[in-house]
Amino acid sequence: MSSSDSDECTRAVEDEPPSTRKINRLAHRPARPSLTPLQLATIQALAVIDEPPPSPAAAKPRRNAGNGTNGKSRGKTNGKTHGKTTNGKAPGKANGKHLPASRTLRVDARHADPAPATTAEPPVINQQAAAFRRQFFPDASDHDWDSWRWQSQHRIRTLDHFERMITLSDAEREALERGGTMLPVGITPYYMSLIDPVDPAQPLRKTVVPTTAEFVRTDGEADDPLGEDGHSPVPGLVHRYPDRVLFLPLDFCSTYCRYCTRSRVVGHGEIVPNEARLEAIYQYLEETTQVRDVLISGGDPLALSDDKLDGILGRLRAIPHIEFVRIGTKMPAVLPQRITPELCAVLRKYHPLWMSLHFLHPSE
Ligand code: SF4
Repeated sequence: MSSSDSDECTRAVEDEPPSTRKINRLAHRPARPSLTPLQLATIQALAVIDEPPPSPAAAKPRRNAGNGTNGKSRGKTNGKTHGKTTNGKAPGKANGKHLPASRTLRVDARHADPAPATTAEPPVINQQAAAFRRQFFPDASDHDWDSWRWQSQHRIRTLDHFERMITLSDAEREALERGGTMLPVGITPYYMSLIDPVDPAQPLRKTVVPTTAEFVRTDGEADDPLGEDGHSPVPGLVHRYPDRVLFLPLDFCSTYCRYCTRSRVVGHGEIVPNEARLEAIYQYLEETTQVRDVLISGGDPLALSDDKLDGILGRLRAIPHIEFVRIGTKMPAVLPQRITPELCAVLRKYHPLWMSLHFLHPSE
């Protein structure tokens, strides 16, 4: 997605749900040598289809009319007709309300299969990433490396770790030594494997490795550049525009971006998903009937356990006037291991569900 799209994670309360067409193009185009199997599988698992509601004829199950994927017709998903979402509701409806046709979204169950079904040739392993893993995590099994919890537990956070893995510039080293008042630092081993070990100007590296430039504060800069704190009726909820809110269940991210506009919040451990705090948010939303659009962001909502995320989505879906539920996440880019079949099963229960995927650069 473009850089303006990628700002969704921190700014999306101002925006309409984004188009999914770029995601679809990524999901269905042929594999590129630079994509790892994990990257490709993640893109496909999260692939969404943005289609108008079908005509009554098209809504009927059709045999032998498929596009060849898994031998099933395009009109069927997991044995259900094209004319219905997997919760049995017609496309274009959420909680009994009609959605604009262009906003109807369906998570395609076919793409939950991690096998890259749309490619003729197997993707080529990213050699740089493979070499990184062999050098710095030689004892990690495939099971470890593919576990999002293992990746979270082995994040690169200290100067010692950075010095071992990349050749730091003076500005990077000084920033890591001084630390303190800056944004928190944390990079998953997976994402670190994509970073150029010698070039401080590599785009990905600049987005996650701090430099002393972060200490420079110019006129007009503010700790809360989006003015969120002044529009927070309940801790962890920003309500600036009449019909939409930003819901912050936690302040944890598996990898911290140097450009984050919510740096005053993320990584401080002050916003935690405890039930009392969440209950106050649900109560506000239940009473505030003009709210129809909820963006769950943070911190990264996909850092929550499946059960916790399931509980949050279930409570939001139970509020009749909430039509749109969105998740802003960078996990598919920095920790694609998080996209598990179990997570997909949770998300599938609540669609139409929007996800703002936070990608910055082709190297991701
Ligand atoms: S640090 Fe977290 S909240 Fe901030 S932009 Fe990155 S993923 Fe989004």
